[in-house]
Amino acid sequence: QLVCVTGAAGYIASWLVKFLLERGYTVNATVRDPNNPKKVDHLVNLDGAKERLHLFKADLLEEGSFDSAVQGCQAVFHTASPFFIGAKDPQAELLDPAVKGTLNVLKSCAKSATLKRVVLTSSVAAVANNDRPKGPDVVVDETWFSDPEFCKRNGKWYNLSKTLAEEAAWKFAKENSIDLVTINPAMVIGPLLQPELNTSAAAVLNFVNGSPTFKNVTLGWVDVRDVAIAHVLAYENASANGRYLLVERVAHFGDVVKILHDLYPTLQLPQKCVDDRPYDPIFQVSKEKAKSLGLEFTPLEVSIKDTVESLKEKGFI
Ligand code: NDP
Repeated sequence: QLVCVTGAAGYIASWLVKFLLERGYTVNATVRDPNNPKKVDHLVNLDGAKERLHLFKADLLEEGSFDSAVQGCQAVFHTASPFFIGAKDPQAELLDPAVKGTLNVLKSCAKSATLKRVVLTSSVAAVANNDRPKGPDVVVDETWFSDPEFCKRNGKWYNLSKTLAEEAAWKFAKENSIDLVTINPAMVIGPLLQPELNTSAAAVLNFVNGSPTFKNVTLGWVDVRDVAIAHVLAYENASANGRYLLVERVAHFGDVVKILHDLYPTLQLPQKCVDDRPYDPIFQVSKEKAKSLGLEFTPLEVSIKDTVESLKEKGFI
């Protein structure tokens, strides 16, 4: 079977391409710069790549850019979207590539006669950013949607980009009879296949960069390998539908520091929270739908350990 992965060189997508090749798929992988070894060497060296990986050059902001990569595919996994904090021009750097890019990919999909399903990498960013109170008894599930106004009010431009991109995708899919499923992971950690540091793995690195304090932040966390396999299951399981939240555990930064300390007692870690306010509250996230795909979650402790080991191996620590 022929499938397409957009943004194939990225952190999550590299694992997705690896698993797809392992399962015997032929993969059309889009990257912005197929001539850059840092973007493609780790892909072309995967088992099965020589026989079944085809690289395509495509950019989210170019109309029709994905047509040839999508042509003849039965599944399209659309993972490409900019993920970084601190954009100077959020419209140009985050919102346009996320929203216009998603529509651009879906337009290519709408032209395809072979396509069975599109699996879109959305995010918890498109789920939990709203004014609904959170607390230990609150269960966030797939019925929750982020509120664009909340994102704008709080300057959460990346979160806004994911919210608007998912909204646009559902609308376009409905109007064009595309079978769409979204995967909505929380903060993704775990080993890196690509040589360059990505934003979410950097979150773990930031704990060991010598800062004396950790932020007063509570987040959901999930392993990159689970996220990648969830994409495959969401395609292979014919009855999969709607959104799939992926969160192994909700943990405060202080809890993550504690896990790191238990694993690496000699590592220099932040000692205390940056402020004296009560900890940002813990909340629950439903795992029911994700488990219905057959997904088993890697424990957070394992993900953290494997991230640190990978960061060491790649010379970041
Ligand atoms: P990476 O930064 O590793 O990957 C992002 C990918 O998007 C890269 O492959 C990049 O391509 C591509 N991209 C960015 N801008 C463009 C553009 N203009 N045209 C074409 N491609 C572009 O991040 P992740 O693997 O973490 O993110 C993958 C997806 O997962 C994103 O949709 C992200 O929003 C989502 N996600 C990530 C989470 C996380 O914690 N990591 C959590 C929830 C969702 P190139 O290689 O050419 O630079």
